[in-house]
Amino acid sequence: MRIGILAVQGAFAEHIAILRQLEVEALPVRLPRELKGLDGLIIPGGESTTISHLIQDYNLMAEIRSLAEDSLPILGTCAGMILLADKISDSELEPIGVMDLTVRRNAFGRQKDSFETELKIPALGEKPFPGVFIRAPIIEQANSGTEILARLADNTIVAARKGKLLACAFHPELTDDPRFHQYFLDIAAGRQ
Ligand code: GLN
Repeated sequence: MRIGILAVQGAFAEHIAILRQLEVEALPVRLPRELKGLDGLIIPGGESTTISHLIQDYNLMAEIRSLAEDSLPILGTCAGMILLADKISDSELEPIGVMDLTVRRNAFGRQKDSFETELKIPALGEKPFPGVFIRAPIIEQANSGTEILARLADNTIVAARKGKLLACAFHPELTDDPRFHQYFLDIAAGRQ
């Protein structure tokens, strides 16, 4: 299985490392031709405004949209989730916009800028998943047909899936728990 990791800015190296641990071919993507022949794509955390500008400059935006429409499995984490959403309530940045979600950037106040919390994610099994939140967005609204995978204790939605598209507000690549990536690989392989 060949998984591409958008590598224009942000935490792409950590995704590559966790995929390699899972013995999956993990390839950085910076050029449109590097999107060819992939079984899945990861859009990492970082700065969503910067990533949006860079993928337009590198001619990746239209190609990623069309691959998503052709059912390429895509995982977006943190800034990557912002880019997958089709509505961002507090920013003018241009998202890829292939998931029916409304998100809000930097949704936690200054004091909770970054935090860690155990998440219940039934799709990953009983054991709580370590949620690492760094200037994280939230999902304000997930529209019909979108499966909600995780919420905080106050019910805020922090992970969702629609078909082969998966989005989370936290950073599974910064933990040593590979279950979220394994779940994405299972989606990509048609096992989930
Ligand atoms: N706050 C960042 C943004 O809006 C996302 C932070 C992250 O990816 N860790 O793009």
